[in-house]
Amino acid sequence: MDTLRPFPKLPATPREFGFYIDGAWHAGREMFERASPGHGVAVSRIPRCTSDDLNAAVVAARNAFEDRRWAGISGAARAAVLLRAAEILKRRRSEIAYWESLENGKPISQAMGEIDHSIACFEIGAGAARMLHGDSFNSLGDDLFGMVLREPIGVVGLITPWNFPFLILCERVPFILASGCTLVVKPSEVTSATTLLLAEVLEEAGLPKGVYNVITGSGRSIGQALTEHPDVDMLSFTGSTAVGRSCVHASADSNFKKLGLELGGKNPIIVFADADLEDAADAAAFGISFNTGQCCVSSSRLIVERSVAAEFEALLAAKMAKIRVGDPLDPDTQVGAITTDAQNQVILGYIAKGQAEGAKIAIGGTVKDLGHGQYIQPTLFTGVTPEMAIARDEIFGPVLCSMPFDTVEEAIALANDTVYGLAASLWTKSIDKALTVTRRVRAGRFWVNCIMAGGPEMPLGGFKQSGWGREAGKYGVEEYTQIKSVHIETGKRNHWIA
Ligand code: NAD
Repeated sequence: MDTLRPFPKLPATPREFGFYIDGAWHAGREMFERASPGHGVAVSRIPRCTSDDLNAAVVAARNAFEDRRWAGISGAARAAVLLRAAEILKRRRSEIAYWESLENGKPISQAMGEIDHSIACFEIGAGAARMLHGDSFNSLGDDLFGMVLREPIGVVGLITPWNFPFLILCERVPFILASGCTLVVKPSEVTSATTLLLAEVLEEAGLPKGVYNVITGSGRSIGQALTEHPDVDMLSFTGSTAVGRSCVHASADSNFKKLGLELGGKNPIIVFADADLEDAADAAAFGISFNTGQCCVSSSRLIVERSVAAEFEALLAAKMAKIRVGDPLDPDTQVGAITTDAQNQVILGYIAKGQAEGAKIAIGGTVKDLGHGQYIQPTLFTGVTPEMAIARDEIFGPVLCSMPFDTVEEAIALANDTVYGLAASLWTKSIDKALTVTRRVRAGRFWVNCIMAGGPEMPLGGFKQSGWGREAGKYGVEEYTQIKSVHIETGKRNHWIA
């Protein structure tokens, strides 16, 4: 596996990317520039695709699906392509991590870890391609046999956000490909580079032309047009709840395309007095600071048993004070830059609002000035009450709100007091409390005495307004299939007409 040493400098000039349709690269007629949020320096130039480009991409994906160049080959042959892609990613790991860090602002060491996780997604996807199967019914009587076929759903539109551009892409693409579907991807306009680099990887791995297509541009124009496209069979959208809602309207108003939605979260981390408080504090610091809190599964609501609340908050604040916020390209950095100017303003706005609402800052609450880029110190608010905006809204930044509880019932009620249901983390040594809370808190991913653990074998997705459907693993592949019931009669038919 390659490594990124010595760590590279910023590119001397912004790299110009094309977009990718039907196995061919196209130059953009109009381009937009992306500046590295950690440095404020232009690093990439990305095409602003038109609706004609989108239509061409959908036609390419449709042709590649209908002529069965991908769906019609064996699962083993699809798996071979996915495994080759995993090997190529191992070779290009540092290069892809570099572009991810540059455009997103995340620490390079973290980006490298995300490429490793993405490689695992391709390996698991390869296994899933071989294991995907239907069912049979041998219980319909001797003269009727039933088969349930799993078929790829067709052309998939994939819209991804800027917080984990490559990881979220790879938590979906191998599973979409494993199912036999073809796709058109629209990455976030601020982090398109690595989605385009994946096209190079898949081409070298031997993916047939037209199976993976990438168009770039703004969400409001080209993204919206993809959600409305009448020849797209399914849309997998990851991003904000507001845009998720507009995807539902677009599906209803176009062709009722199936939707997979991975949306926002306001995730609880529940700490009981009997927990290992040192471990829980380390996890809470990580859970809110990882990816600068710009993470759908960030644990942004600390729900802590009142008898240890003051002790735990002090322990946590001491740990958060030691977090290394710095240049994303520095290998020692733990927390990098805020990805967009707009998000920076949103986070600072919530920090001001929390104080105005009467909550107290135990640590952080300030920007970190490196002389370039935009950085915010991980922040802990204490004295938070459940009706405060900082306790209710998804801030999508390194801002943690602490709220005390007295009973198990109260902890469950506080954890469920949100429109979201994406993830939850729970800290206790009691098996009773662990099982009771895990069963009663409504969230799609649960971590007991751990946080953000697991791999692409396990499904991901949300309850309530956090989304529809599941991605990754066996469940993820099945989302991209539809089921056909086949009835086969044996022997002579009992005639209807005498
Ligand atoms: P966003 O919804 O603004 O954008 C996401 C993607 O949708 C981008 O590619 C964007 O260009 C596109 N888009 C924007 N407007 C669109 C429209 N009208 N029609 C179609 N596409 C459109 O979200 P973001 O700011 O990129 O990401 C942050 C949000 O994403 C947060 O709310 C976060 O919780 C959520 N998120 C969820 C998950 C998850 O797995 N549940 C993962 C990452 C991010």
